[in-house]
Amino acid sequence: MSPGESATVAFAPDVFTWPAERPQLIGQRCASCQAVTFPVQGSCPRCGSLEVAAHLLPERGALWTFTTQGFLPKEPYAGGETPETFRPYGVGLVQLGDEVRVEGRLTEADPAKLTIGMEMELVIVPFRTDPDGTEVLTFAFAPVSEGA
Ligand SMILES: [Zn+2]
Repeated sequence: MSPGESATVAFAPDVFTWPAERPQLIGQRCASCQAVTFPVQGSCPRCGSLEVAAHLLPERGALWTFTTQGFLPKEPYAGGETPETFRPYGVGLVQLGDEVRVEGRLTEADPAKLTIGMEMELVIVPFRTDPDGTEVLTFAFAPVSEGA
């Protein structure tokens, strides 16, 4: 990479498919009891089996519960905001298919615009920019717009 160019990278490998036209979260499925979990843990939290394999999760799901993060999280927090730049954001638990519930940021922070059960979809959003210009991405859930 030449100077002045910036890259985009996922904040952690093996959390979502990237780069991808339609990114998906990477969970795991247990070969013994079929339990699906996120993120990948290397063993099944339900039955303890080590026979788990990567499993791509549905991109859409229903908002199970949510809250608003209205202040800068305590350390360690890798988001890169300062008290001056911080903006409140939503945090929610989204039920993906009938498989698993995943906690993540929401693109909508206004509780008046969020409803339990509304359809959400996975989006990849900027998380922070490293000093070398690398843009670090994370996943979030966005309300599915009407008619989409
Ligand atoms: Zn299992």
